[in-house]
Order: sequence, then structure tokens, then C-alpha cells
Amino acid sequence: MRLGPFIGASFAVAAVPVAALLALAVTGSATPGASLAAAGACAAAAMALAALFARDLHLLAETLRHAALERQHDSAPPLALPRFPALQRIALAIGRLVRARDARTAEVGRLSTANEAIVEALPDPLLVLGEDRQTRRANKAAREAFGDDIPAVLRHPGMRAAIDRAFAGAGPQTTDLQLPVPMPREVRASVFLLDPPLPGGARAIVVLSDRTRERALDRMRADFVANASHELRTPLAGLIGFIDTLRGPAADDAAAQSRFLGIMAEQAARMNRLIDDLLVLSHIELDEHQPPLGRADLAALLQRVVAGFEPEAGRRRVTLRLTLAPGLPEVAGDADQLAQVAQNLIDNALKYGRDGGSVRVELAEAPPGQGWPARPGLLFTVADDGLGIARQHLPRLTERFYRVDAGRSRAVGGTGLGLAIVKHIVSRHRGVLTIASEEAKGTTCSVWLPVEQS
Ligand code: ADP
Repeated sequence: MRLGPFIGASFAVAAVPVAALLALAVTGSATPGASLAAAGACAAAAMALAALFARDLHLLAETLRHAALERQHDSAPPLALPRFPALQRIALAIGRLVRARDARTAEVGRLSTANEAIVEALPDPLLVLGEDRQTRRANKAAREAFGDDIPAVLRHPGMRAAIDRAFAGAGPQTTDLQLPVPMPREVRASVFLLDPPLPGGARAIVVLSDRTRERALDRMRADFVANASHELRTPLAGLIGFIDTLRGPAADDAAAQSRFLGIMAEQAARMNRLIDDLLVLSHIELDEHQPPLGRADLAALLQRVVAGFEPEAGRRRVTLRLTLAPGLPEVAGDADQLAQVAQNLIDNALKYGRDGGSVRVELAEAPPGQGWPARPGLLFTVADDGLGIARQHLPRLTERFYRVDAGRSRAVGGTGLGLAIVKHIVSRHRGVLTIASEEAKGTTCSVWLPVEQS
């Protein structure tokens, strides 16, 4: 306890009664002994009261000092309460205020942690810029997508212009950019100014949504429509030409008429096949993301499909051989779609195989550890010994309308959609399709299918 305030307080309490008692003693109104004893008692009482008061004030001051700290330390011993009731109420009120403040601070802390977690987990790259337009923060997606190239992204002229406009108060800005780093991609950048700036200096937010895949899909869709129209227009133009010829120059030529009608029938059949394949493809694409619900006995299914190809194989003098491992389980799948896979692969093997060659169709349990998924699955292969496919074409074979030799494909009745259909069906079945080929040696198409749908 500090002495100065204590003496001052004692003096303030005892001064008047002690002075009065001394005056009584001096004027003879009271005996000096009694006056001195009373004055002494007053002084002692005043000192005791002052000591108690000074202690209470000290406790109150300590309580306020603790309250002023950012956060109470749980380990700090609790302070004693003042004895004076009024001071005690003040100390208790300070305690309540401190607890309320600490609860609010903890809540704000939790909210800010939650906000950070949300920003961090956003799938799109997000950058927070300061007043100096430098990056204050980059979320996980931004760090993963751009790494050390974030400053280069912000220096992109289109990006800089959008940031300038946003900082100049033109409102939220959106711009499409082609970013060359760290790899070429198409990005939609949105810039939002934070007005007023956030504590910590955040002045603007930049969101970079990757549109590369979307744009590629747009282009693919446009290409597909153009290709499909072209594929249909060619036989249609042929048909129109022949109709004109039949009406005009060949009107009376019976031999030419029957020849032209044969060609026209072939062109019409080609259009029909194309439309059938387009319909199959669009149907498969519609439910590609829903795994099939049924089960299929692939062995029985292959026996039926292979039997259906026997006449065609006979015409081409091709030995068509089916080898089935015994006791195979059913697979999870849509039997009609799996029959379509077998149909398209065997059809290709016959179309592009060697006349007089052989086509081997096999079904067995997938051998473990040869690149196939570790889950139980069946492996279905179709191998021919035909002209094969040059290595550079292999990655593109399952694209719609991609053909190695368009003339040959058309000549054998191909639509350029067979392998695209196979790929979509296999991916719907969560399976794997591989095509291995060697020029002049032959092609092997393999389809791995899971026994159980995951
Ligand atoms: P198409 O209707 O033209 O046969 P696909 O999508 O089935 O269309 O096949 C695409 C292309 O892949 C074919 O045009 C052909 O060039 C090539 N191809 C497919 N299967 C074989 C095979 N077994 N042998 C050689 N080339 C093949």
C-alpha cells in the first residue's frame, strides 16, 4: 500500500473530529485526558477506515487494469472483491463487462477463422489486393493454380486494365483473359473493390475462374454440329444430284436408273446409320453421369453378338473366334449398352481387319497388376490382325468423327462415331478402354469393366 494516499485519506477522515476534540480540550469544555483519548481513538479509526478504503481502491484499480488487457489470462488468480458495498458493485459490474467483451472477442475470432476457412476452400482462385495493388493474400486454389506466377497474372494487360477500372470506382469488373503462365489457359477474372477497405489493408478482391474446359467444350460442340451437318450433307447432296439426273438426262435410261437407285439406296442407308449413331450417342451422353443399375452376363451377351457377326465374317473369310474363361461373374451394367460396345469393336475389327485374317474376342477375369484397377473386374478384348493404326492417331480415335482414313471408313460404312460411343458407355460403367495397335500387325481394343459398381 502506498503511504501518501493512506496518510491523506486518514487525515481527511480524522481531521475534523480530532480538531473538534482538541478545541474542546483547549476551551476546557472537556478534560484534556478524555479529549486526547477520544482524538486518538478517532485517529486510529480514521486510519483503519483509510487503510480499508485504500485497499478497496487499489483492488478496483487492479480490476480495471486487468479489464483493460486484451484478454483475461485464465491462469491469473482472481482478484479479491472490495469490502465497501458501492465499490464491490462497481467491481462486479466491471467483471460482467469483461466477460461479455471476451465472449464477443472469441465469437469474432471464430467468425474470422470460419471466413478464412471458406475463402481458403473456395474452388476458384481468389486474390486479395492491398491499396498498392499488391497481393495481400491468395487462397489455396490460387496458390495451386498460379504458384509464383501470381504477380505475372496481375501484370497481364487485360487484368491490369480491369483492376485500374475497379480502383477508379467503375464498379465490379469482369474480363476474359488468356493467361500464358504457368500454362496456357482461359480465365474469367472478376475484380471487386472493397469500399471501405477491410482492416488489414484489403482493398480489392480478384476471382479467377478457369474457363479452359468450358471453352474447349463450346468449341467441341460447335465442331460437332459442323461435322454432323457435313456428314449428313455429303450423302444428301449425292441424293439430290441423282434425283436431278434421274429426272433429266437419265429419265429414259433404264440401266442408268437402276445403277443410280442402287447408289442412292446406299447413300440413304449411310444417312440412316449416321442418324442412328447420333441418336445413340446423344442418348448415352444424357445419362453418362448416372451409373447403370442392372447386371449383365457378359459371356452370354458376347456369344449372341459374335454369332450375329458370323455371316459377315464368312463373307470376308475372317476367322472369328470367341474365348470365354469359365465361371465368370456378371458385371454391373446395362446389357444393351454393353452389347453396343461389343458390336462396335467387333464391327471395327472386321471392317479394318484383313480379309482372310482372324478376329479374336476374349473375356476373362482382369489379370491383377497389369495397369487395370485393383478392384475385381472382367477384361474384354477384341484383337484383329489388320492394317493397324499409326501411333499418332491413337489418342484421338475416340473423338467424334475422328477417322484415320476417312475414305476407307466411309467405304466400309463407318460413321466415325463408333469408338466415341464405346468410350462414353465404358466411362458410364466406370470402366477403362485402351486401344493398342501396331501398323501392319493389327489392333487390340480392351475394355475393363468392374464386377461391382462403386
Ligand atoms: P468408323 O465408323 O469410322 O469406323 P470409329 O469411331 O469406330 O469410326 O473408328 C474411328 C477410326 O478408328 C476409324 O475410322 C478407323 O480409322 C480407326 N479404327 C477403329 N478400329 C480400328 C481397327 N480395329 N483397326 C484399324 N483402324 C481402326
